[in-house]
Amino acid sequence: MPTVTFETLTFRADHEFVHVDLLRSYTTKILKEELRAIAPFTITSPHEITFENIPVKRAETKFFSLLTKAFEHLKTKLTGNPATYIHRNSGIPLIGNVAFGIVYRGSSIIEIKTNNGCNLDCVYCSIAEGISSRKHDFVIEKDYLLDELDKLLEFVDEPVEIHIGVQGEPFLYGDMENLIEDLQETDRVHTISIDTNGTLLSKQMIDRLAHCTKLQLNLSLDALNEETAKDVAGVKSYNVKHVQEIISYASSKLKVIVAPVLTPCFNEQEMEKIILFVKSLPVQPILGIQNFLRYKAGRNPGKELSWEDFYALLQNLEQKHEIKLRLAKTDFAVRETRELPKPFKEGDLVTAIIKAPDRFPNSVLAVAKDRTISVPGCLFQKDKQITVKILRDKHNIFVGKLA
Ligand code: SF4
Repeated sequence: MPTVTFETLTFRADHEFVHVDLLRSYTTKILKEELRAIAPFTITSPHEITFENIPVKRAETKFFSLLTKAFEHLKTKLTGNPATYIHRNSGIPLIGNVAFGIVYRGSSIIEIKTNNGCNLDCVYCSIAEGISSRKHDFVIEKDYLLDELDKLLEFVDEPVEIHIGVQGEPFLYGDMENLIEDLQETDRVHTISIDTNGTLLSKQMIDRLAHCTKLQLNLSLDALNEETAKDVAGVKSYNVKHVQEIISYASSKLKVIVAPVLTPCFNEQEMEKIILFVKSLPVQPILGIQNFLRYKAGRNPGKELSWEDFYALLQNLEQKHEIKLRLAKTDFAVRETRELPKPFKEGDLVTAIIKAPDRFPNSVLAVAKDRTISVPGCLFQKDKQITVKILRDKHNIFVGKLA
């Protein structure tokens, strides 16, 4: 009997629908009636549906057609926000947008962004991500991302760091461990760094990743006091003890950077406690305290500390606790690399096709010449042709307006 199997999908039925989870954190549903119209079916395992009395090819074609339709209503499970699945047949390139895909700024650190959505709601979040976010989300097929990254690595042609700097929490992405494993095997990659809030990590996951010698975890830790930690994380379920355990365990197996964000009026008094915690660990991770900065699209709970005051504070703490806190550019070994050509530049008029909603309401992603262009102030009409005037082209990140 024909069986359709998907490692990235999980099926479960209720009385009316088959619910389809994509990469663990995104979900959609198909009417059972529509599946029965293909042929009688059974969910034979979480990743498999078996159809009766129908040739395999026919079952697959009909099922793919239903799935494609269902993906138009994909949602992020945590928030219910609409989401777009970007895969190799989606017609959406991976260069052009700062929120997903590949961001190459002509340096030896290449950013990749697999997904959006976050299980916290930090008061200082520079992109206002988290459970209160009402933005449109993206999630990317791992093998499509790796193939496109390979093309870029070939172009750059020198060893690079891959920074998994997702607008959201990267371990919500169901293929994250596989992605890290694949990057570990990629010759041109010397380091894989990943920013995570640590809440979804477990000791078992760290054991599974421990052989990834290129991996560096940048873990958030903003307070040790449990109530303060919950206040900064913006969710009452935040468990700082778990994150401390993960930091302690991961530090003995992998390179770890603990990265608190000093947010005035929230956690200044917690910095010394974090220093003492880090110093108490059997294998001491690097501590990189960051200064809270206000961003236009961020959550801005208060004033910034001037850089002068921030560095003076770090210097005091360094002297008092005999620990290095001020990280220099040389600590990250960033080099300039080959500039990627831009298919269009600021001021150009470009014919583009609308492919998906963009992150913010009333904005779309349009596609031209293997790049995406963010177009605010434009209604989403799939596959509509528009003319866009390019307003921003820096680092192959494109923003335009309807011409
Ligand atoms: S964990 Fe990161 S992405 Fe999530 S809300 Fe906090 S700062 Fe934003």
